[in-house]
Amino acid sequence: MKLLHSGKVRDVYADGDDLILVASDRVSVYDVVLPTPIPDKGRLLTQLSLWWFEQLADLVPNHVVSATDVPAEFAGRAIRCRRLEMVPVECIARGYLTGLGLKEYERSGSVSGLQLGPGLVEASKLPEPIFTPTTKAPVGEHDEFMTYAEVVDTVGAETAEQLRDITVRVYRRGAELAAERGIIVADTKIELGWAPDGTLVLGDEVLTSDSSRFWPADSYEPGRPQFSFDKQYLRNWAAGTGWDKQAPAPEVPAEVVEMTRARYVEVYERLTGRTW
Ligand code: ATP
Ligand code: MG
Repeated sequence: MKLLHSGKVRDVYADGDDLILVASDRVSVYDVVLPTPIPDKGRLLTQLSLWWFEQLADLVPNHVVSATDVPAEFAGRAIRCRRLEMVPVECIARGYLTGLGLKEYERSGSVSGLQLGPGLVEASKLPEPIFTPTTKAPVGEHDEFMTYAEVVDTVGAETAEQLRDITVRVYRRGAELAAERGIIVADTKIELGWAPDGTLVLGDEVLTSDSSRFWPADSYEPGRPQFSFDKQYLRNWAAGTGWDKQAPAPEVPAEVVEMTRARYVEVYERLTGRTW
């Protein structure tokens, strides 16, 4: 197998016509990969993504070929998938305003060209989920918001409409299901690609805590940053060390690793209803 790409937390291999997407136990905080892995994170996120692909299968076809036909060393944390021609747009849906979406709103009153009306604050719930696509920037550069018209210019009107429609439906389905389990999905990013016959297929990972923001519903309160389900212990620990958020990050103490792992297990178990 040929290593095509090594991201912050995942590695992508080519195997014939297929890709093998391998999730590691690496974790990033403030965009810096920590030197300490979180045991089982790769398997937990891979299994969660596979579960979501199934939940969404009636909404959108996906790239999964096999979760088991992967090299033994990657068992449980790799997915064999169809290689797609990826659409050059990061498809993001937001039900709540936070992160870069909030920054953009504070600067311009809009996100991806959508006027949002006055008075929204950190973590405000939006009246309707919105499609806020961005560019896919090369490594080292930042993704930029795209207006819907720019998406149309990039991929054509018909594909743009499909991207928006699929992204918002995936978000709605995900948010609805998670809400029944006490979890708010604030926003999520999906990636779509074209199969050889031209159909749009859901690729990459879906509705994991690396591609979405999950908040515990019982402590939700707009106007302040929300508790991050997976990374709050790491963030609190990081703040306590005085680390300047620049690489390299210090080693993470064992009890913080254990608390973090427990939160990944909790999210997996709550969403899927399974026992890890
Ligand atoms: P980051 O670490 O910030 O996430 P990254 O997005 O470059 O960086 P990964 O997410 O690990 O790193 O890389 C996965 C890559 O594989 C992405 O470029 C994604 O677009 C691509 N990809 C996912 N599924 C498919 C597929 N079915 N066919 C082709 N490419 C795919
Ligand atoms: Mg990625």
